[in-house]
Amino acid sequence: MKYIDEFRDPALAQRIVTQIHTTAARCTAERPIRLMEFCGGHTHAISRFGLRELLAPVVESRSGPGCPVCVTASTDLDRAIAMADVPRVMLTTFGDMVRVPGSHRQTLQAAAARGADVRIVYSPLDALDIARQHPKQEVVFLGVGFETTAPGIAAALLQAEADSVANFSVLSLHKLTPPAMRAILDAGETTLDGIIGPGHVSAIVGSEAWAFLPREYAMPCAVSGFEPLDILSAIDALVQAVVAGAPAVINTYARGVRPEGNPIAQQLLDQVFEVGPADWRGFGVIPASGLVLRETFAHRDAARRFPIDVTPAPEPPGCRCGDVLRGLIAPSECALFRQVCSPRNPIGPCMVSAEGACAAYFQYET
Ligand code: SF4
Repeated sequence: MKYIDEFRDPALAQRIVTQIHTTAARCTAERPIRLMEFCGGHTHAISRFGLRELLAPVVESRSGPGCPVCVTASTDLDRAIAMADVPRVMLTTFGDMVRVPGSHRQTLQAAAARGADVRIVYSPLDALDIARQHPKQEVVFLGVGFETTAPGIAAALLQAEADSVANFSVLSLHKLTPPAMRAILDAGETTLDGIIGPGHVSAIVGSEAWAFLPREYAMPCAVSGFEPLDILSAIDALVQAVVAGAPAVINTYARGVRPEGNPIAQQLLDQVFEVGPADWRGFGVIPASGLVLRETFAHRDAARRFPIDVTPAPEPPGCRCGDVLRGLIAPSECALFRQVCSPRNPIGPCMVSAEGACAAYFQYET
């Protein structure tokens, strides 16, 4: 078993795989048990360690919308690119974002090549330091991420206030994960039997944030860590719940996730952000699924400091990122996969991001 040998404890991994097959064999449905891993980090681990192959044909997994770069709408990317072109603006962001194509395949990287000041940072506090060092420029941090990264942005904004760094603002494209999961289930476009809950997000929001899944959708959810053994354990728990017909939230990542989450991070978020609508690639606008700056931080809101109108743009022709993000297809079902689209020539964001499903399939799956 070429994959099993790469696990930290191959014997344990083999036992769990065998158990999953044995339990799933008791399932009466005439199709594999279909799970969705919300998080792009899980998608990469599933591909990297061959979990799909190890669990076939009894379990099938679909990737979900848990790649923040991928779900950033083209219109929002276009706005960020236009903002980088505003005189005196220096746009800072994480590395993945500079290569993600907006409409007409424009990128922040291309904007930088034609003279815009775009800089890659490793944290929002780095961007704040840059603002201190360049008081004559307007430093905008392009904030992209879920509940996991938003507390760091909140901390940077509070620090900017405390230190009176007037030239620092944030373009917040932050998104909340439970509303996207709800949107997928409400749409009913794909049949799912269970959800592998995101570990890092759940460390902030708590495993109880997923209680609506079994309560309202009779859908089991297993919160998982990122080691391949963690994911196998989560899948094992989900398969048992499916076969027993007993949907519940199962926290298989108790070493990192508490039922109530991280109250300090939640308080930071609440101080700086409020919940508002957000535009998701592949979904459109989902109400109450984004984090917008509170009125008390309006002067730090780059969208208000540098208002830019952008025309909604179509997705790149042929790119099916939206269908991948909603779990409708596997990346290999996109006609452009490998033929035209590759990490060297990415057509959509799912091939660019380190958490993108298309990049994971390209790198690890044949
Ligand atoms: Fe888009 Fe490329 Fe993925 Fe197809 S393979 S969905 S073109 S990113």
